[in-house]
Amino acid sequence: MTPPNTTKENGPTKILIIGASYAGLAAGLNLLDLCQGRSARFSSRDSSSSSSSSVAEKQDGTLGVKSEVLIKIVDERDGFYHLIGTPLALASTTYASKAWHTISSIPALHDPSISFLQGSAIHINPSTKTATVKLATSNAGKEGDEIEEGYDFLVAASGLRRKWPTVPQSLTREEYLRECKGHIEKVTSGETKEMGGVVVVGGGSSILPSPLSHFPFL
Ligand SMILES: Cc1cc2nc3c(=O)[nH]c(=O)nc-3n(C[C@H](O)[C@H](O)[C@H](O)COP(=O)(O)OP(=O)(O)OC[C@H]3O[C@@H](n4cnc5c(N)ncnc54)[C@H](O)[C@@H]3O)c2cc1C
Repeated sequence: MTPPNTTKENGPTKILIIGASYAGLAAGLNLLDLCQGRSARFSSRDSSSSSSSSVAEKQDGTLGVKSEVLIKIVDERDGFYHLIGTPLALASTTYASKAWHTISSIPALHDPSISFLQGSAIHINPSTKTATVKLATSNAGKEGDEIEEGYDFLVAASGLRRKWPTVPQSLTREEYLRECKGHIEKVTSGETKEMGGVVVVGGGSSILPSPLSHFPFL
């Protein structure tokens, strides 16, 4: 996280999060909880007991402040993809449809302090505290446009860029479902059998069971 040069005195603090996967969403939602005077949702503290003694209600003057924040999340994908389920998503269309949730379909993100932008962060300038984002197709008519997003704090949660076939490469849920279906059809087609079947290279305990249990005939 890049610290701000100056302390903000007016207006909400702007948090820019790059990446809407496990790390990015966890950072955004836990931060929102803390800034709204609640225990962080991933905290081990019992939320029912903490709600009556939230930090905002403390009188000791140290933790008793709520902070106004505006959290903007940027991702190339149009939603959250449960990436570790990839081996199963590439074996079962039923599962594939459960593994990708568009941002608008995630209730936890329906908060006025959170907004989402689909696009690719292509440059960060820590001295001006701006990120350049190349917009995706979902930003009607503005695909490819580059915009500047200012921030007070930046969370870089862009993870790793993994190539096909480690993970699907689609950036929208619709494309992703087509990508998984196409792969499954290819694997199960007669052509694959004629070519001698499928070889699974590597694959630990979480990867190997999916193709084996879904395509036992291969
Ligand atoms: C097949 C497979 C199985 C796995 N199984 C397990 C497991 O069982 N247990 C486990 O703990 N870990 C597992 N892992 C590892 C786990 O997936 C990663 O540790 C985890 O995804 C890291 O999460 P992250 O949020 O840091 O980054 P990522 O999941 O890599 O997410 C990064 C996000 O940032 C976005 N992004 C990237 N660059 C930009 C950019 N320039 N602009 C805008 N957005 C951008 C991406 O679209 C993505 O949504 C597995 C990985 C794979 C591939």
